[in-house]
Amino acid sequence: VAGGRSVRAYPRAMGTGPKILVVEDERSIGTLVSTYLRRAGYDPLWVRTGEAALAELPRHPLSLVILDLGLPDIDGLEVCRRIGGRVPVIMLTARDEETDRIVGLEVGADDYCAKPFSPRELVARVRAVLRRTGPAAPVADVLTLGPVRLCRGTREVTVGGAAVELAPKEFELLGYLMERPGMAVSRATLLSDVWGFLAPGETRTIEVHVGQVRRKLGDPSLIRTVRGVGYKAVAP
Ligand code: CA
Repeated sequence: VAGGRSVRAYPRAMGTGPKILVVEDERSIGTLVSTYLRRAGYDPLWVRTGEAALAELPRHPLSLVILDLGLPDIDGLEVCRRIGGRVPVIMLTARDEETDRIVGLEVGADDYCAKPFSPRELVARVRAVLRRTGPAAPVADVLTLGPVRLCRGTREVTVGGAAVELAPKEFELLGYLMERPGMAVSRATLLSDVWGFLAPGETRTIEVHVGQVRRKLGDPSLIRTVRGVGYKAVAP
């Protein structure tokens, strides 16, 4: 999709939101959770056993795992242990399983939801965990890069004191790179963190936005291309 316009317009319909692995043997819960996640713009993948979960793990760029502890084959805690912190985990536990919750948090789970839970509560927890486990966000209100000054509060960008008009995604893209001066940021990371979805083929969207930002800043060398990777913000 050239320019990525249709992806931006229909991320939900295309299932390009962050991919979430749902591990739950109960059909009613698995269906409910998947439905709510999809409605919230995520891309759920539902499996019913621990074995299946571990098999799917390396096959996808997963953003999160929702893991029932009471699985028919491998114990949920063991699955969590084997995930080993590679992907954030929200455990689904029975209300009285306090020990499981404690152990779960010890073996690397990020949060838990006690059954019976409301799907809305679960989606809220998913959002919170993804916010927390996403890229570290030092919430600096004002960022500078050479002559460029970006203020998040006022959403203003100036170059040498002169205001520059950036589109919303251009602003976020520039802010994301300026927060990590000198660091190479991959196109996949930009897609997931600035655009909010993982669609490896959509790099053209990024190229177009980087081109616009460079043009508007008037100095292309402020955002350097890192060949085969992505981009980095570099002070002159
Ligand atoms: Ca179960």
